[in-house]
Amino acid sequence: MSCFVPISGGGTDHHAAVALETEKLKRRVIWCERAGDDRWRQISFLYRVADRFGSRIFDHSFCRGEIQPTIGCSTGSCCRCRPDVFAYEQQVLELLPKRVDASGYCPFFNLVRKNCGIYGLRPFACRIYFNLGPTAHYCRNPNDTTLQLFDNLKPHLERILGAYWGGFGD
Ligand code: SF4
Ligand code: SF4
Repeated sequence: MSCFVPISGGGTDHHAAVALETEKLKRRVIWCERAGDDRWRQISFLYRVADRFGSRIFDHSFCRGEIQPTIGCSTGSCCRCRPDVFAYEQQVLELLPKRVDASGYCPFFNLVRKNCGIYGLRPFACRIYFNLGPTAHYCRNPNDTTLQLFDNLKPHLERILGAYWGGFGD
């Protein structure tokens, strides 16, 4: 099961800053698509704008109260899924070592440290995924803002990252 699975009743209040940053991210992804034919530069740009979105939205997310500077998130429960990937990302992740077990966590999640074991290579979807709801429930159940953002970006991302694949390994 991928991370971006809609859950009924997931809608929550929106902070104005989240809406602003969401619009900026959409615009930047579209700019990226128009920025030239060099696919690798486009991919690099995409991941940078996703990380910039994350750094700006973090203070407005539930994650802010859960993530400690040195030890990260105490649960990492949002990684209890298969990360959403596009064709290019699926190919890259297939080359990496992965855990095989029945934990339900992403095969790249470090179960001991409770963080992402491939942080620098994590997919676009993981980079923009934050709990934008009021409680820990929304760590694993994305609210409407998160779902709409990903759905809106998908067609633009597909032109650069290839077809949307779903959850890695699904
Ligand atoms: S979404 Fe939840 S589990 Fe994931 S990093 Fe944020 S607080 Fe931690
Ligand atoms: S790739 Fe990393 S951030 Fe994404 S779900 Fe897996 S462990 Fe979590």
